[in-house]
Amino acid sequence: MNNIEILGRWTKEKSEDLYNIKNWSANYFSISDTGEVMVNPEPENKDRAVSVMDIIKGVSDRGLDMPVLLRFENLLDAQISYLNNTFKNAMKELDYKGEYRGVYPIKVNQQQQVVEEVAKYGQRYHHGFEVGSKAELIAALSEINDKESCLICNGYKDEEFIDLGLHAVMLGFNCFFVIEMPDELEIILNRAKALGVKPNIGVRIKLSSSAGGHWTESSGDRSIFGLSITQLTNVIDSLKENDMLDCLKLLHYHLGSQIPNIRDIRSAILEATRVYVELVKEGAPMGYLDLGGGLAVDYDGSKTNYASSRNYSVNEYCVDLVEAVMLTLDSGGVEHPTIITESGRWLVAYYSILIFNVLDVTKFEKTEIADKLDDDTCEAIKNLHESNQMISPKTIQECYNDALYYRDQVNDLFKQGKIGLRERSLSEKIFWNSINRIAETKKKVRFAPAELVDIERAVADIYYCNFSVFQSLPDNWAIDQLFPIMPLHRLDEYPRRDAVIADITCDCDGKIDKFIDSHDIKQSLALHELKEDEEYYLGAFLVGAYQETLGDLHNLFGDTNVVSVSITENGDFDLASETLGDTVADVLSYVEYDMHDIRKHFRETAERAVKDGLITPKQRREIMKSYDEGLSGYTYYEK
Ligand code: PLP
Repeated sequence: MNNIEILGRWTKEKSEDLYNIKNWSANYFSISDTGEVMVNPEPENKDRAVSVMDIIKGVSDRGLDMPVLLRFENLLDAQISYLNNTFKNAMKELDYKGEYRGVYPIKVNQQQQVVEEVAKYGQRYHHGFEVGSKAELIAALSEINDKESCLICNGYKDEEFIDLGLHAVMLGFNCFFVIEMPDELEIILNRAKALGVKPNIGVRIKLSSSAGGHWTESSGDRSIFGLSITQLTNVIDSLKENDMLDCLKLLHYHLGSQIPNIRDIRSAILEATRVYVELVKEGAPMGYLDLGGGLAVDYDGSKTNYASSRNYSVNEYCVDLVEAVMLTLDSGGVEHPTIITESGRWLVAYYSILIFNVLDVTKFEKTEIADKLDDDTCEAIKNLHESNQMISPKTIQECYNDALYYRDQVNDLFKQGKIGLRERSLSEKIFWNSINRIAETKKKVRFAPAELVDIERAVADIYYCNFSVFQSLPDNWAIDQLFPIMPLHRLDEYPRRDAVIADITCDCDGKIDKFIDSHDIKQSLALHELKEDEEYYLGAFLVGAYQETLGDLHNLFGDTNVVSVSITENGDFDLASETLGDTVADVLSYVEYDMHDIRKHFRETAERAVKDGLITPKQRREIMKSYDEGLSGYTYYEK
């Protein structure tokens, strides 16, 4: 049982508090009176909300298996509008004379559908793209139509990359080459001369300011990318020598992703704008100030400077950015430039929900133990039993020590062959009985011993779920990134179990045992008891940024099914498009198996078995049929 008091009937309001949904959902997600998670791109209009369970039904009726990634195109549209309008309002309020241009960094989610939708919904705000490679530039050029938006080329650029960018300039696009390394300049100047095109040049600088959070190393003097101040002056000198200083129009830096503290953001702007003023003094025309990405997502809803959160609102972010830029430029008498930001995470995180079903559960519950054990029970088990009977608020630490000590002693006796399976099983039952009782008793103690702080985790159930952490939530595995995870239905019922989540890879890291909390990190998640005849669905939210493209093929679990959902004006929904996840044959081909060869090999094995009399020819036919079905099947657990 989890430690939430049941005061009267369980209500959806209690679930809202328990899962903190109001604080992390940006009002896009809520809970209905019938206890289902609702999605609404227009929170002020209650009639537009759609139940995720209705979408799951629609998806299942069409024959798509779990796990499924739902992408809500309206949420992307809403995020793009919100960012652009908030900057517009901040500029108006502060009487900023320049403009705002957002660019979407394709690396955050490169899937064609995502890039296409950013181009579609971004066009009315001239929201452009940031690319870091030739492939990303080609992807951007395949979707972008708007000549007023910016196309920012970061990353190392070879001749091919530069030619592609220069061709984009020839086609009328507002394409910038941002110099990350001093040597790039010479290639840009040579290729521009050869093609007879005037390039738009930007410079990326290393700031001495740095930011906290997971991506601290993107900034500071030792950051990998960007020019030092000395390298910057060398670039200016080269441009002057080549009579090309009039091409230098943009200054860029990127402090890192998911910056939790607004003070770090402000201090970086102040440093960068000083450099901007100096570049103008050097005689460069400038006009564009690109402040990079970093706008954080409040994954845990705590509104703090914790790594999974942020201590500022989007409005504060926009106002602070504009104000900080004005502060230095106005005192330097420099014209207000177009401000560019490269927000990726915040723009697309809300857009996707990963949905999966629970396959099974393991519980570590108390079982009935007799008051008295048989006389011939071994001494260590008797001691374990005795300490179990002594558990009280005053003895929990002592009884905990005893439980571990005697459990280990029994295990040693088993290894030495001195006790058998039945006694080992009895010891296991008494041990888990003790740990459960210690966890329950701890709740009655005002100051629990430090060692017992996490004891609930030891008795938490394991819910086995149909997805792969490595494929679908890689940041949770790699950098302990927290994502809101919660049941998608039954939220008007008391979730009486405390659980951790295990995925279906057989890897001990394939688990989630840290969950969002408004004050801390929770070691377990409150979930409902499974019902015999009903699927139980969970959702991992805010997974639109980075997760889809960073995933690997651990245990050869491949891409999940993806369904794009469009919520209509009247609160209905269309399944606008669906992309089937990888089949077994797909993932095998990614790791260089040749389908023809492996099938031939298996057929020969089956034929040999017929010759050896192990199976009949008819059985061979059945086995080959099921093998072929296996190859064309989904890589996840299919019902
Ligand atoms: N711009 C650059 C150069 C980046 O490397 C990144 C990613 O870290 C971004 C923008 C996107 O940052 P975020 O997703 O935090 O907005």
